Amino acid sequence: MIDFAIPADLAAERDRVRRFVIDKIVPYERDPRLTAHGPTDELRQELVELARAEKLLTVQAPESLGGRGLTHIEQAVIYEAAGWSTLGPVAMNCAAPDEGNMFLLSKVADPDQVQRFLAPVVAGHQRSVFAMTEPDGAGSDPAQLSTAAIFDGENFTINGRKWLITGANGAKTWIIMARLAANPHLPEGPTLFLADGDEPGIVIERTMNTMDRNYVAGHGVVRFDNLVLPREALLGEAGQALRYAQLRLAPARLTHCMRWLGAAERAQSIAVEHARTRTAFGKPIGEHEGVSFMLADNEIALHQCRLTIWHACWLMDNGEKARHESSIAKSFVSEELFKVADRCVQVLGGIGISDETVVEMIFRDMRAFRLYDGPTEVHKYAIGRKVLRG
Ligand SMILES: Cc1cc2nc3c(=O)[nH]c(=O)nc-3n(C[C@H](O)[C@H](O)[C@H](O)COP(=O)(O)OP(=O)(O)OC[C@H]3O[C@@H](n4cnc5c(N)ncnc54)[C@H](O)[C@@H]3O)c2cc1C
Repeated sequence: MIDFAIPADLAAERDRVRRFVIDKIVPYERDPRLTAHGPTDELRQELVELARAEKLLTVQAPESLGGRGLTHIEQAVIYEAAGWSTLGPVAMNCAAPDEGNMFLLSKVADPDQVQRFLAPVVAGHQRSVFAMTEPDGAGSDPAQLSTAAIFDGENFTINGRKWLITGANGAKTWIIMARLAANPHLPEGPTLFLADGDEPGIVIERTMNTMDRNYVAGHGVVRFDNLVLPREALLGEAGQALRYAQLRLAPARLTHCMRWLGAAERAQSIAVEHARTRTAFGKPIGEHEGVSFMLADNEIALHQCRLTIWHACWLMDNGEKARHESSIAKSFVSEELFKVADRCVQVLGGIGISDETVVEMIFRDMRAFRLYDGPTEVHKYAIGRKVLRG
């Protein structure tokens, strides 16, 4: 049976999350610790403690690690409410990249790795990064991976350069993708490694200046300079990094959709209020068809995006990988929500591009959503190939 009803207990929890975000988190949106390079670690920790006090921290984590083991559909409902403020997911420890990294580690890490690298992230005490993208190698096409790992039977030595690595500065749990060279001990090819951010071979060259500022510590350029890791640093099986990246990406790209849906709703609520109260040419601007149609287009897009997300979640909750459907969702939702944010700026008139409202920040932060976890064109490339295969 297909059922769109949200169970009463989930609806109550959604409302509690929304209230928490509005009452406790939104006031921090003007905190100076929300910098051009994202929230500082100090701000993050303060927000995390607020969520912990409300028992809203890392609710998606497996029950064995202290979470509630939310289904994908439950995540969709809760993350949408959390996304009302871009700081909501930071507080509740369900923001990228930690949320996707926790998911991956809960599936692939061995028990020792879980204790050392995953448990402190779930507890909100440390952050994590996923280091894949490279200036001259992996990007849309991760098979171009150029960071190299050499194994001598005892230790791995990793050399290479990455960029756009979210949260690099200050993160302790590092998931690193490197190409393992042929060796007599392990299969070669793209491989994942776990490392402590304090390792001397991990060099943060700089934090990039980007147009978004919703991710803790921004995005780093990183060099692995003879990074030496023991055999236990191997995450999962050697040579399987691209498979694990897919395991991480299908749900992770959906959770981006859920959080940004909440942010787009917030922008719409501000635009609606403005359209009701601001007058021009003898009436509220919302009574001019040009404005009411923009708000209607937003309403239609928000509804379509929600249904698209829920469908992919439903498939995954029923044991499907839903790679195709999550590609459809990511490309559709990122494009549509960005148009929603743009129309909200337009409805607000000149103040739309100022920080008089949070719409301007949502607009800038959301732009990157069309690029990360697969640019729209790359998802369409994959969808198109599947369509042609029949
Ligand atoms: C805010 C932000 C945070 C990020 N965080 C991380 C992170 O934490 N860790 C990490 O490893 N990476 C991260 N990334 C990198 C992100 O994953 C890459 O930007 C993305 O995979 C695209 O790779 P690229 O930037 O190298 O673009 P390129 O691969 O250079 O592609 C450029 C453009 O070419 C087009 N294109 C490419 N392939 C095709 C195709 N087959 N068909 C049609 N058009 C195509 C697309 O329009 C694409 O936007 C982040 C990026 C951003 C913007």
